[in-house]
Amino acid sequence: MTIIQINLQQVQARMAAACQAAGRDPGTVSLLAVSKTFGPETVQSAWAAGQTAFGENYIQEAVQKITALRQLPDANRAPLQWHCIGPIQSNKTRLVAEHFDWVHTVDRLKIAERLSEQRPAGLAPLQVCIQVNVDGGPTKSGVLPQEALALALQVAALPGLRLRGLMSIPELATDFVAATQVFMRVKTLFDALNGSGLALDTLSMGMSADLEAAIHGGSTMVRVGSAIFGAR
Ligand SMILES: *Cc1c(COP(=O)(O)O)cnc(C)c1O
Repeated sequence: MTIIQINLQQVQARMAAACQAAGRDPGTVSLLAVSKTFGPETVQSAWAAGQTAFGENYIQEAVQKITALRQLPDANRAPLQWHCIGPIQSNKTRLVAEHFDWVHTVDRLKIAERLSEQRPAGLAPLQVCIQVNVDGGPTKSGVLPQEALALALQVAALPGLRLRGLMSIPELATDFVAATQVFMRVKTLFDALNGSGLALDTLSMGMSADLEAAIHGGSTMVRVGSAIFGAR
């Protein structure tokens, strides 16, 4: 077994244990492997170990990897799925629209509009989550919770995008209960949006250090980097 195989199994075991402890079906939480700063060979070993969804923060670095690994998938496997989880500047939206399958970090209408317009017609709509700043910290990206519904309704109407849910990166809390409560605030917002006529199925939250709390709080997709690939 490779280190990456062992790490992937450990992360999956943590996810399964957290689901069990929270009384949730393990099939309701998926794993996004965050491969930023690691090369295409590393992604390829995780793929060989069964992982198909990868998260990237830096657009140019990601596009190189996506291009290098384009020939990888075989007929017996689902194709690689690439998720953009880093901040997106206006001048990078075209690269994102042309290369990624998902974007987790939509927090402005202008960026969403550009992604929609620039999504190539031959590709499926870009699957997007709206990033929510649930802690209220002024330096962090994401819409404020009270602005999420208005943005979600506008994003849901864009033809090149398909709105899937919410994403959040709360501050690391000092204890499990506090962490879970913050994640639950995002879940409450998610439920409220679904009660307002949207059909969201994805709650992207939890990383290496706090995936258990995120799963208790209702996460459906954890984004895990260092626990799989090692320190960056
Ligand atoms: C880097 C990153 C992760 C993964 O963080 P780890 O602590 O390495 O698991 C998850 N989400 C986002 C948005 C990131 O930037």
